[in-house]
Amino acid sequence: MSQIQVQKLTKIVLCPISGEMTEDAAKVLEQVKQCKIPPSKVKCPKCGQEIEATKFALHLIKHCRVSGKSVVCDICGEKLKSMGDFMRHIREHLTVAELRNGMWVWYCTVCGREFTSKKSVLVHILKSHEVEK
Ligand SMILES: [Zn+2]
Ligand SMILES: [Zn+2]
Ligand SMILES: [Zn+2]
Repeated sequence: MSQIQVQKLTKIVLCPISGEMTEDAAKVLEQVKQCKIPPSKVKCPKCGQEIEATKFALHLIKHCRVSGKSVVCDICGEKLKSMGDFMRHIREHLTVAELRNGMWVWYCTVCGREFTSKKSVLVHILKSHEVEK
């Protein structure tokens, strides 16, 4: 039995394609890989709201609490030093990677696109899923 090797950047991974949030990166990977056509609307796993895929990462800004000098992520409870740090952290909730032929392939869990580096998937999330009106 060969087990697939997966990587995640945060404890919990959001899968807006299926509307789930889970610690099981392999499960998210499976769901994301089944997505052949990028959806135009996805479901927020935190509040159940339907969101346009282009604005999904932007929507996640509301899922935090400001506590003293820090920003607490409502999804995983992690404390971040600033709103900018929180936004970077939010993007990390939206990617999983799979080891394929010795190379990590990164997936965007909002639209299912794949990337050859962690940096490129995080830039993609910023440019494609954090679009203001
Ligand atoms: Zn939400
Ligand atoms: Zn978090
Ligand atoms: Zn995407």
